[in-house]
Amino acid sequence: MELGRIDMDLLGRSFRCTCGREHHVPIRRVVVGDDAMVRMGEFARDEFVARPGPGNTAGGARAILVADRNTYAAAGDAARSALEGAGCDVEVLVLGGDGGNGRCVQGVLEADEEAIGRVLARLSGCGSESDVALSKSPEPAAGVAVSAAARKTFAVAVGSGTINDIVKYASFKAGCPYISVPTAPSMDGYTSSVAALLLGGFKRTLPAAPPLAVFADLGVLSRAPSNMVAAGFGDLLGKLTAGADWVLARLVNGEYYCELAAELARSIALECLERGSEIGTRTKGAIKSLTEGLIWSGIAMLMVGNSRPASGAEHHLSHYWELKSLREGRPQPFHGTKVGVATILIAGVYADILGRDPRGIDLADLKRRHRSREEREERIRRFYGPMAGEAIIETAGKYLPWEEREKKLREVVARWDEIRDTLRGIVPGADRVRDALEQAGAPATPEAIGFSSDWVWEALANAKDLRMRFTVLDFADLLGFLDEIASAGAYKRSQGGS
Ligand SMILES: [Zn+2]
Ligand SMILES: [Zn+2]
Repeated sequence: MELGRIDMDLLGRSFRCTCGREHHVPIRRVVVGDDAMVRMGEFARDEFVARPGPGNTAGGARAILVADRNTYAAAGDAARSALEGAGCDVEVLVLGGDGGNGRCVQGVLEADEEAIGRVLARLSGCGSESDVALSKSPEPAAGVAVSAAARKTFAVAVGSGTINDIVKYASFKAGCPYISVPTAPSMDGYTSSVAALLLGGFKRTLPAAPPLAVFADLGVLSRAPSNMVAAGFGDLLGKLTAGADWVLARLVNGEYYCELAAELARSIALECLERGSEIGTRTKGAIKSLTEGLIWSGIAMLMVGNSRPASGAEHHLSHYWELKSLREGRPQPFHGTKVGVATILIAGVYADILGRDPRGIDLADLKRRHRSREEREERIRRFYGPMAGEAIIETAGKYLPWEEREKKLREVVARWDEIRDTLRGIVPGADRVRDALEQAGAPATPEAIGFSSDWVWEALANAKDLRMRFTVLDFADLLGFLDEIASAGAYKRSQGGS
């Protein structure tokens, strides 16, 4: 299998990889192009209509097409006629305000109980046999392996993040397959096996099943709102620092690493780094690359069973800002918009740390400054407020007593040349990331999305305590540079530098 490029042969397959693991990609078809709706019709006919089975002796299929008003206007009719042309009975469910179904907060549809319930009501009974299979399965991804009877009904999510999350979760619960029709290249969740939901007023990420197929119409994607395209570009560029964090974790901690998944997540992002202005003017070629980059980044996550290939310190900064904004009741920029800005900062952290030399570290001084477990938890309480308990439990394993930290430090020092040279070959300069975002018309400074230098400092210094995943921020902390780097990063930002 050739590395560094997308490979349609991976779709719908299980295979033994050079990383030593068996990977399974349950998504069977990915089409990003002008003919996506035609191809979806062919797929629906072959997959559902032309396959009579138990309980479906007459053939035929029922498609529940879910959209909101905007996304239906963008792609609903085209999707509907493609499905009807394939012989499906299509039922349309438009969620959202102004006569639609589902709850809106300030005009925005939420992926909450009500919306999920409405989709579930339409899907009920479609997966009675596969429910059994699902409950026995340890892997959520197996949810797409539905019985022939369940094939009669399938869902089609016409929309972006929220619609996709609602349909992904509802179809998983109902045990029936779904097809994703993205209307904006805004994030990499289309192909993931988790759904971001708002349950009981809290944001939750729950296991679900990825779509059976993705059909993305280039004309529709090119007409998506510019702030959503810019957000998708930010999320995609985040793969560059996320990939570096994974390599760093392999080098420092011997963490499991899959070169194929890493390349799938990273290669298109690297290519798109040079195409900022094309993203800004929305050439079809650039929009196609952006969309494919996001889709294949999701597939890389599916392959390894977690978000490691696509999410590192830049995502931790974004999540930290998100939690802080929620606590303070402030408006949220899009996920990818925050990730893009954070990617510039993390590229700057890499440049800073790789320019230092840990061989000169004064171990006696570092030992004096070493925090006890209690001091660490006290600090988390100070910055995380009501979320502190969860953060302390989640990241308890990150704490190293001095003896263990010293041992790890000595290992890093002994391999410093290798670590530095490997990472320098991977991480792009902060200026390149910022230029690309600016050319694309995306916000490229924390100030542009309403975050002060205090917020930058706070996130750089504390975001590592949000998740167990090891990133460059943990690495900086291990070497005793984190507070200095966080202050320098925040200061430079406030001066308009990188
Ligand atoms: Zn993301
Ligand atoms: Zn692998």
